[in-house]
Amino acid sequence: MTPGDRHGYLVVLRESSRAANGGRRYVCLCACGRETTQRWQDLRAGNVVSCGCIGRLGRIASLNARNVRAAHQRRQQQARGIDADSLGILYSLAQRQREPGLL
Ligand SMILES: [Zn+2]
Repeated sequence: MTPGDRHGYLVVLRESSRAANGGRRYVCLCACGRETTQRWQDLRAGNVVSCGCIGRLGRIASLNARNVRAAHQRRQQQARGIDADSLGILYSLAQRQREPGLL
C-alpha cells in the first residue's frame, strides 16, 4: 500500500503510527475532505470505503463511485496539494444520491 492508492472514497496519504497490536495503519483522505486513519487490513479487504461519512453508499452507488474514482485519479495526477473544492462538490453529489428512490 503506497500513497495515492485508492480504496472507495479514500486515498492513502501516508503510513500512520502502528496500532497497539503492531498492525499497520494509514492516514487516508476521504472524498468529503476529511482525513481518517484506517487499519491496513480493513482497507485491503474493502471493509472501509470512506471516513464513515458515506458508509455503505460507496458500494451501492456505482455511478457516483465512478465519479469519485475519476476525482481520485485527477488528484493522483496533481501535486500533493488537496483540491478541496472539487472534493466538496463530489461530496454534495454523494449526499444528493442518498435521497430515497435513487438507490
Ligand atoms: Zn468522508
